[in-house]
Order: sequence, then C-alpha cells, then structure tokens
Amino acid sequence: MVIAHSFRDAAISRQIVQAIEEGWPAVPAKCREGYDEILFRAPDLVIVQLRRQNLCGCLAHRHMLVTEAPFAEQHEAFGSAAVGEMDIAYQRVEKWLALPLTDTAFDTKFLEGSRLKEFRAEQFRLKLLSIILHETNHLVFPHESEASVRERSLAFYREALADYVEHALATLSLTIDRSFSRFG
Ligand SMILES: [Zn+2]
Repeated sequence: MVIAHSFRDAAISRQIVQAIEEGWPAVPAKCREGYDEILFRAPDLVIVQLRRQNLCGCLAHRHMLVTEAPFAEQHEAFGSAAVGEMDIAYQRVEKWLALPLTDTAFDTKFLEGSRLKEFRAEQFRLKLLSIILHETNHLVFPHESEASVRERSLAFYREALADYVEHALATLSLTIDRSFSRFG
C-alpha cells in the first residue's frame, strides 16, 4: 500500500501505517479470515489518497481509474503489477459512528477507567482498517452489493473492537488491583 498525503497530514498517515502493520496482525484470526479471498485477489499495489474532507461527504471511495500522478501510467518498475486506488476523508472517519450503540457503551466503560483517549485512538485505527478493507472489497468484487460489502466490513470492525475492549479491560482491572495492593 502507498499512502499519498500532504505534508501536514503526515501524522494521520502514520496512523494508517500503524493500523495496517500492527493493527491488522493483532486482530483475531477469524476477523482476518473474512478477507482471505479478497486480499488474495487484491491489486498488487493499492494507493490510498488521504484527504481531510470529500466534497460529497463520503468517508471513502474506490477509484475506477488510478489518478495519483506517479501511478497513473504503467511504469516499467511496476512490471505487470495491478494497481488499485481509493481515497479516505479522515476528518469524516474521526466523526463517524460505525456502530453508535456499541461505540457509546464502550466510551462509557473507558471513561470510567480514564483510558478513553487510548481507546479512541485504537478505535480510529480500526475504523480506518475497516474502511480500507471495505474499499478493497469493492475493488476486487465490483458487482457485489453495497449491503453485502458493508455487512462484512462492519462485522470486521465490531469483532475487532470487541476483542480490543476485552483485552484492554482485562489489563485495566489488573492496574486497579495493583494500585489497591499498595495500600494493603
Ligand atoms: Zn461501499
């Protein structure tokens, strides 16, 4: 994957890199398995154009044609590699409630544990990951219905987030137990 971004969005770009390099291997195997076939058929090179906003207000789009200049024409360096492209409007992603009820319930849990900031950062990276998978799904199977593509990407997000919360809460109670034991 290649992330095309402006200089001022370098920090967000690093979050995407972290989501792909660290977040993806860390999600439960059953979450990754849902995308086995899609990733197997995915273009060799996927360009992500990072934007702040989209005029249409969408979170992301897949592009039928590659528009990012260095990749728009076939280069010898790429050989016969297939190239796909998508854009992501990250300020929309930050505000997007993927699963309003679940997200709010988790927010409350971490607010009590004062780990809300950490939770929100992980949640943002999982949203990015689910969007990248969603758009890749569209690139690979252009005729699959939006409902079906969405169901798969939301299932990924729901299960990956639940797994993160479960592990984070386990360490949270451990921290509380330790701090109490200091008074013991
Ligand atoms: Zn879609």
